[in-house]
Amino acid sequence: MSSKNRIPMIAGNWKMNLVSGEAAELAAALRKNLSPDLKHEVLLAPSFTNLHCVHEVVKGSPILLASQDMAWEEKGAFTGAVSPAQIKDAGCTHSILGHSERRHIFMETDEVINKKMKTAIKDGITPILCIGEMLEDRESGKTNDVLATQLDGDFAGITAEEASRVIIAYEPVWAIGTGKTATPDVAEATHVFIRSHMEKMYGKNFADALRILYGGSVKATNVDELMAQPDIDGALVGGESLKADKFTRVIHFQKI
Ligand code: PEP
Repeated sequence: MSSKNRIPMIAGNWKMNLVSGEAAELAAALRKNLSPDLKHEVLLAPSFTNLHCVHEVVKGSPILLASQDMAWEEKGAFTGAVSPAQIKDAGCTHSILGHSERRHIFMETDEVINKKMKTAIKDGITPILCIGEMLEDRESGKTNDVLATQLDGDFAGITAEEASRVIIAYEPVWAIGTGKTATPDVAEATHVFIRSHMEKMYGKNFADALRILYGGSVKATNVDELMAQPDIDGALVGGESLKADKFTRVIHFQKI
């Protein structure tokens, strides 16, 4: 399957790092380093408290902004939660949903992620839906079953038209923050599976247009070979996105 009609996206997930001055400084460095010829999308996901200041730095540039999570309710008595209107007000067009740290540390279920997906779509926010298997799933040959269960649950009750707003990020849990990257072949084969599962759910045209990012220890040194795979449409980057020089290189991946 050719990726040539899908616009690549390189996204940086800053997780629970940086105070506002540091976040603004990093965003400014990345904005300054951005090639004017860049044809693909670049996105940053700072902490909620840093969204406003990063937005001030990147507005007017091609850099897009995402929250790292989002409430499924619109407003009200939900202490600690941040609403879709609040993240939009802070400059977000996208929201990362179902990140493995939300699933495994904060015990988010596919049911909860599904509610967040529906709210994001209704409110015009593009979900970047993260899915991925644990090491024991991969070692016992259950990767595809785990991914299919996540996809079925996270997209439950969502129409093809609604789902066409969604970007998927395949992030094997064993590769996140561990320095262990899936080999380009393993990542590609898994992306092919995800695309074929989405084709079963929503049809061929949908699957052909769906963007699937890879995440899990993407670095300046391995991004080119990952991005050379036909079904890898971008990268969701954690640790390496906190270093201006390294992330600049990831953003400007080379065609090989
Ligand atoms: C992530 O947080 O989504 C991620 C992939 O992290 P890292 O690049 O550090 O593995």
